[in-house]
Order: sequence, then C-alpha cells, then structure tokens
Amino acid sequence: MIDSADLPWLIPTREKLLGSAHRHHGLLVSGPPAIGKYLLGLDLATLMLCKQSREGGPCGSCQSCHLVSNSAHPDLHLLMPEVLAEDCHPALLGHAQRYLDPGQPGQRRKRSNVISVDSARLLSDSLLETSCLGGRKIALVLAADTLNRNAANAMLKVLEEPAGETLFILVTSFPYRMPATIQSRCIRIDCPAPILDDALAWLRGRHEADNEDLSTLLVSGLGPITIDELLSNRGMAAISTLIAYCMGKNQKTPDSLTLARMCGEVGIDRALRILQNLTLQAVRECVREGVTPAARGLFRDRGFSIRAFQRLGSARESVGSAVDEQLALEDICAWVCEEHARVSNFTNGGSK
Ligand SMILES: [Zn+2]
Repeated sequence: MIDSADLPWLIPTREKLLGSAHRHHGLLVSGPPAIGKYLLGLDLATLMLCKQSREGGPCGSCQSCHLVSNSAHPDLHLLMPEVLAEDCHPALLGHAQRYLDPGQPGQRRKRSNVISVDSARLLSDSLLETSCLGGRKIALVLAADTLNRNAANAMLKVLEEPAGETLFILVTSFPYRMPATIQSRCIRIDCPAPILDDALAWLRGRHEADNEDLSTLLVSGLGPITIDELLSNRGMAAISTLIAYCMGKNQKTPDSLTLARMCGEVGIDRALRILQNLTLQAVRECVREGVTPAARGLFRDRGFSIRAFQRLGSARESVGSAVDEQLALEDICAWVCEEHARVSNFTNGGSK
C-alpha cells in the first residue's frame, strides 16, 4: 500500500492535519484529484485511532493499528459512493464494505455516483452509539461532495452534536459543491497540487517509464496516483493513444467516431478530463508563447480551446447523469471535431 508519508507533495498538509486533528471534530480535506487525499484521510484516521501514536504517525503495532490494517476496525466508518469502489485502493474498499449496498445476487445495475441517504443515515445511527473499543469514532467520507442534499442533512445532526469523541474527516476534490451547512462546521485543509518534478521523481522511483511520457500524462490532468495505478495494471496504452491522437501525432484529421471510440476505451469520465486538460494546456501555451501552439493537434486555437474547455466541463457534469452516456459522449466528440474543422478552415483560409 502507498503510504501518504511517502508522497512528497502531501508532507506539509500531512503535518498540518496531524497537528490540528486533535483540536477539531470536523475536517474538510480538499485538493486536486488523484494526489493521495483518500490515503491521507485513512492515515489520519489510523493515527487518531492508534493507542500508542508517536510523533509523526501511528505505531503500526497496537490492537487498533492491526484492526485498521485488516479493514476490521469497528470504530472506523468509511463512506464513499459506489462508483468509487470500482477503482479505489483495496485498503479503503475493505472499510467501505459495511455501507455499500451489496445489491441482489445476480442483479446488474449501474453503480451509484452519489452517497445515498440510506448510507448516511446508517452512518449517523452508528455514530450515535458508544465506540466499540472505548476510544474515538472516526467517520471518513470520501468524495464527500457526492453526498446528496438528503444524505448531507442526515449527517448534519451528528456533525453538529457528535456523541462521544467523534472525528469527521471529509475528503473531496470539489469542496464548493458541498452544502454550506456542512462546510461551515468543518476546518478546511487544502492539499496543493504536486509540483511536476516531485510527481515525476515519485513515479520514476516506482516504475520504469519515459520522463517525457510521464510529463505528458501529468500535464494532461491525470494525478500521480492514477498514473501509478495505470502503470501497475498496464492500462496505459489506451490513454497514450488518445493523447497522441489529440496532439496530432498521427497526422490525421481528427474524426468524431474515432475520438469517441478512443474515449470509450479510456473510460468516459477520465477521457473528458484528459481532453479538458489538453485544452487548458493549449491556452496556457498560447499565453506563454504569445503564438498559436503546435500547428498540429486538436486544440491549437486559443478561442476554440477556451470554448472547448467550457463545453467539456459541462459534458463532464452531464455525462454522469445522462440516460445514454455513449450518446452524450458522441455528441461532445462531434462538437469538438466539427469546431476544430471549422476553425482550421478559417485559419487556413485567412492565411491565403
Ligand atoms: Zn497503533
């Protein structure tokens, strides 16, 4: 398991958290996706439950630490949306099981991308009971922005008046999506984005990979933890193909069906995030260089890149709730390719 203490970009936040966790009963940990915030949350929970915690971390050998490492600590309550269970760290999944809906045997259904009110009520009820080991109770809520309004209300009461020694650790990449009532009861701790060199050095310490490839992935908006998982599971090929296609490395005019197929292979949400970050990169490059970036590639026009950034953002919001995700994906890919063609024709025509 990755230890959050080994992630150099999290060290200042980790120290701040370890120092303040004793003084508050609600912490809201935020920061960019896939930088290790969930693991940091679990480490903090482990520390707060440890019976012999030392300066800088849990002891790793007491009853509490053993129970946490076996995903069996009765006073560690972990809530997350079902969709996160698909690719979260096994250590986190083990703790989350008690609040995840097992579904009917043989039933296939779409995993929910919100934390349901039923799970939040179950958590609140458990937190009102006395702690099993006589110490603290920890509620660790991952992707806390996915608590829907009712779920947030169900949790609010116990967050306002926690029974016994209860600590809430809410972790999210999108704190502004959370109800003000929840935010106002927590101390917010922001994890800064990793510095590129730190993330590169960490990844290179774990994988044999080309520096340039890793840099491209990092500036495409994939967090180091995601890249690490992809490299470990050899899931990188589809992403590299998509990025190369968008950057015009195959010299072909982008067409929407190919783009949609490549996005589908990467996973719709992840693919849209990559595309959106490529637009952002293009805009930054324009500002920095003062000229239109690389003459090839999908996003080479500043105005188009800004419009595409906004459209892709809206698409990311709506795809999750779309009845037909594939149709929504094809729609945004068609828009991107048509606009790209229009802008290219205009630019070419204008230079004649
Ligand atoms: Zn311990």
